[in-house]
Amino acid sequence: VISVEEAQRIIRENVAKASIIECKIQDALGLVLAAPILAKQPNPPFDASSVDGYAVSLKSFDALKSGEAIALRVAGEFEAGAHRPSRFIPKVTFRIFTGAQVPKGADAVVMQENVVRKNDLAYFTAMPQLGANIRPHGGEFQKRTKLFEEGTRINPAVLGALAGFGFAKVKVYARPHVAIVVTGNELRPPGTRLMPGQIWDANSSTLLAMLEALGFQSVKVFRARDTVKDVLRAFRKAQKIADVVVASGGVSVGDHDLVRPALEQLGVQQLFWRIRMKPGMPIYFGKTSGKIVRNRKCVFALPGNPVSALVTFQLFVREALLQMMGSTTIASRLDARLMQSITKSHARREYVRGLFDWRGGALYVTPLNLRESHMMSGIANANCLIEVPEETTLLEADSQVRIHPLQWTAY
Ligand code: AMP
Ligand code: MG
Repeated sequence: VISVEEAQRIIRENVAKASIIECKIQDALGLVLAAPILAKQPNPPFDASSVDGYAVSLKSFDALKSGEAIALRVAGEFEAGAHRPSRFIPKVTFRIFTGAQVPKGADAVVMQENVVRKNDLAYFTAMPQLGANIRPHGGEFQKRTKLFEEGTRINPAVLGALAGFGFAKVKVYARPHVAIVVTGNELRPPGTRLMPGQIWDANSSTLLAMLEALGFQSVKVFRARDTVKDVLRAFRKAQKIADVVVASGGVSVGDHDLVRPALEQLGVQQLFWRIRMKPGMPIYFGKTSGKIVRNRKCVFALPGNPVSALVTFQLFVREALLQMMGSTTIASRLDARLMQSITKSHARREYVRGLFDWRGGALYVTPLNLRESHMMSGIANANCLIEVPEETTLLEADSQVRIHPLQWTAY
């Protein structure tokens, strides 16, 4: 039985980055850049107006006296996307709109709110500042500027920036192929009637949803009854299509916990089994020997209790998948002030479900009561896990505790 940190180290040492692929930016949300991105061209790509108004040359204002207005003839109009004229005629102004290219020779744009317009004349009462309301060509960056480092996670803002800077495809680390194996004779799909002794299957849905939140789509679920034959069959099928198999149930010490013997029979080498933690102690991690693929095929067998499956996925499987996808950052942890005391009587690290919130600039966390590993309603109403150290039996109210926000997405 090892510690959480030892388990995380073993995972880190045994997973490698997936292969590099080129993909459309629409498909890149949550993936990590495998190469830096250099600007194709300066941005903005031309001098552009940042307001609706009138493009002027400051020279036209030489005759301006205080208290009087000068009149300039409106010689044309430019909307966004229009081609600009080659030359700016002195002593005139051009009507211009936000995003339109500023005509050559104009050195300021006056907001329309500060201009009085009568027919084809525009009246100005103040000398504009040089460059006012013009976004200059290259003002944000020049050609070949490094915009993003290798290792950047593509969140919606990065994705939008890539689009805005003209990139339709990017080089990223691929997602590994994942499959799910769910074991248990007692399981029935939600929406069906239960016979005595049966329960509705929560874990298929939880695992699928957590994978989907990380961008894994159409993941296959293989179901097995608690027989050696069935469990073997499900893992064989899953391993055929997946680099990473995530299983639920059957990994504890009962007579019907057949997952470890089955994996052994399939040549999967155990890297760890059981972590000093609650929930989730019986989690198993193994890898297939023999086949050399970039990722090495691996298996996470999670405990069947729904909270255990969710928490172990979050702390171990999610991290492993993100590492394979090229991510080097680890999930965020925060310190918060505990609103109510927590006691425990075992020597494992406990992850108590909690609700954190900011109040008056400080972070507070309230532990939730439903602490047992089968109590999904507890974690479903939480937004974080509160870490209670192995040796601790009492965390007093008002003390500082470490929390792990439940973050579902890959960015
Ligand atoms: P196991 O790890 O197979 O010994 O299961 C531990 C507990 O979790 C048992 O009470 C199971 O009935 C329950 N359980 C196992 N799989 C699921 C599942 N997919 N959905 C909900 N509960 C489950
Ligand atoms: Mg079971």
